[in-house]
Amino acid sequence: MFQRIGFADADSGLEEAEYVVVGLPFDGTASFRSGSRDGPDAIRLASFNFESYDFQYGVDLSDLKICDLGNMELGADPAYAEETIKEGIALLPERAVPIFLGGEHSITPAIVEGLGQRAGALGVLVLDAHLDLREEYGCTRASHACASRRILEKDVLAGYASLGIRSGSREEFVWAGENGISYFTARQVRVEGIDAVLDRAMEKLQCERLYLSIDLDVLDPAYAPAVGNPEPFGLSSWDVKRVIERLAPRLVGLDINELTPAYDRGETALLAARLARDFIAARAKHKIL
Ligand code: MN
Ligand code: MN
Repeated sequence: MFQRIGFADADSGLEEAEYVVVGLPFDGTASFRSGSRDGPDAIRLASFNFESYDFQYGVDLSDLKICDLGNMELGADPAYAEETIKEGIALLPERAVPIFLGGEHSITPAIVEGLGQRAGALGVLVLDAHLDLREEYGCTRASHACASRRILEKDVLAGYASLGIRSGSREEFVWAGENGISYFTARQVRVEGIDAVLDRAMEKLQCERLYLSIDLDVLDPAYAPAVGNPEPFGLSSWDVKRVIERLAPRLVGLDINELTPAYDRGETALLAARLARDFIAARAKHKIL
């Protein structure tokens, strides 16, 4: 009768949880639109729009053990946020699959390090319009515009690819070429289809443990307008759904970042919530089979 404002169907305690939802409300380096600190709660609110039963997977999310831990207190200093995220991840039970709700994309390097320190090396697939390969941006190396560059520096990284790319500085593209960084463009997805491009990305990610980071600006602004740095000519919501559908059984976790609710009429938060629920349902179905 009384709804808590947690993620819908997340009414389990931490001890028995199979899935754990964690909000990371940090937007201290936002460069165009700010406000992604309000992203986690907007996604939670939107999650109540959807049925508990997932028709596609035949899974009822109310039957699953999902725990919403709430938001970490991350402040405004990127170094403090990074340490807090790593400390918080160390407290999560190992069997529970984490779903991190951003916050801006600068949260992801700390997540990768935290998960890697906990259970070993992992490959990272980043869905993003942007390369995020800058050495620094706005006088900080911790900027959201440097997210992939910082991920690539992590000792725990076993493989990396990004997908949906359609923006970056000349220097970033040169650096990617010189360093053999695997990235796949939105145009490739448009021409070849998401399955063919994902096949090629997975060839670059020959690793047992895989993590998925979804910067919502990978989607075309027609589908996801409320993001920090919108970039036209992006992926469709079907494309991203398909990535989750294929990868969910083997993911050690995922994050969904860069939602800026003040620019939303609700559609971006709804899509983010739906993608998170798709991930849980797809993974649960795999476990049942
Ligand atoms: Mn990004
Ligand atoms: Mn981006």
